[in-house]
Amino acid sequence: MFWLYTRDFGLLKVLARGIRKLNSKLRGSLGLFSLAEVSFVQGRRHKVLTGALTQESFSQAKGGLVRLRLLFRLGWIFCFLVPSQEKDKNLWKLMEQAWLRLEKEELSFSESILFYYRFFWQLVFLLGYGPELYHCVFCRKRIASQVFFVAQEGGLACSECLKKKRLRARKISETSLKLLRLLLNSPWEDLKKEKLRPELKNLYQEQLVFLRSERLGNRTS
Ligand SMILES: [Zn+2]
Repeated sequence: MFWLYTRDFGLLKVLARGIRKLNSKLRGSLGLFSLAEVSFVQGRRHKVLTGALTQESFSQAKGGLVRLRLLFRLGWIFCFLVPSQEKDKNLWKLMEQAWLRLEKEELSFSESILFYYRFFWQLVFLLGYGPELYHCVFCRKRIASQVFFVAQEGGLACSECLKKKRLRARKISETSLKLLRLLLNSPWEDLKKEKLRPELKNLYQEQLVFLRSERLGNRTS
């Protein structure tokens, strides 16, 4: 089974029958991480791939393991968060731009992590789960200092509201908050000059745990 993100049908899982056979026509024309023109039919249980013509293969180019690791992570988070069969031209654009950027540029290890976080937060916003990054989610006041992050409440909170609601939250530094905003808003050329901060990993993990629980909730309801 393959995951494909298609411009016309969104995210699809398709069966590529016979792709392992040496003489398969599909073999070699559909590698991992490639841009391809594909055709498929609806089988009894699965969609079945009937043809594929690669236009661009992104896993072959320079960059070695750092790049391959990044491609796997981008692919994983995308398939994990994006709902199946939802066509969305902005998601397509996000994916396409990330892939094309990686085609042109060789990233260092820390740049690849920044790149991944940028992709993650942009994806989260496109899917409508973007956290509030300027105001307290409870009192709506703009927060200047003493910033806390509560993923399940939808973003930033001020210390007074947290105290009132008796909530525990992760405090974040102003520098990390700035970096998080930059991830979303600045061009990659500017962003990659920034120093990676360990706090970003905590924010990412907290958001991911929240998204995972949301996703499981939606599935069972
Ligand atoms: Zn507040």
